[in-house]
Amino acid sequence: MPRYHTKSDMFGTSKYYRELSIEMASDRRNQEFQEVPLQPTIAATPFLDGLKRRELILPRCALCAELHYYPQATCPRCFSSELDWVVCSGRGRIYSFVIDYNPRLVVQDQPPRVIAIVELQEGPRIMGNLSGIANDRSKVRVDMLVRIVFEKLDDETTIFTFAPA
Ligand SMILES: [Zn+2]
Repeated sequence: MPRYHTKSDMFGTSKYYRELSIEMASDRRNQEFQEVPLQPTIAATPFLDGLKRRELILPRCALCAELHYYPQATCPRCFSSELDWVVCSGRGRIYSFVIDYNPRLVVQDQPPRVIAIVELQEGPRIMGNLSGIANDRSKVRVDMLVRIVFEKLDDETTIFTFAPA
């Protein structure tokens, strides 16, 4: 009778593997997380400069008028490289969301966060953290109305979140 290796045989019952994984997890907990500096692409630079002015601007195709996010060098619909930049309202509704229980947040002594995909009034969907809910994640709903909130980190960097409208 043939003997099949199952996932349990190969990993779950292996003492060596279990010891190794415990050791690796322990190492990860002790590591300090390093910040990775932002390195924006050329296509994203106008978008990031807009954030510094507390404006949400998105590229719009000069040929087919498609507004898109994330910023790209060409239109994702017709591949034209003729793009204009349009100031958007920063208002929309939650299209979908997830609650992020990333262990890194625990290490940094931060609560779980809500990451939302927001459908802007202008059409495109944009992902961002949800703020202004005082850690009451139970109130977050699909179709909830939200608005953009800008947060200046330093002279070079402004980020955004979404908060209930
Ligand atoms: Zn286009």
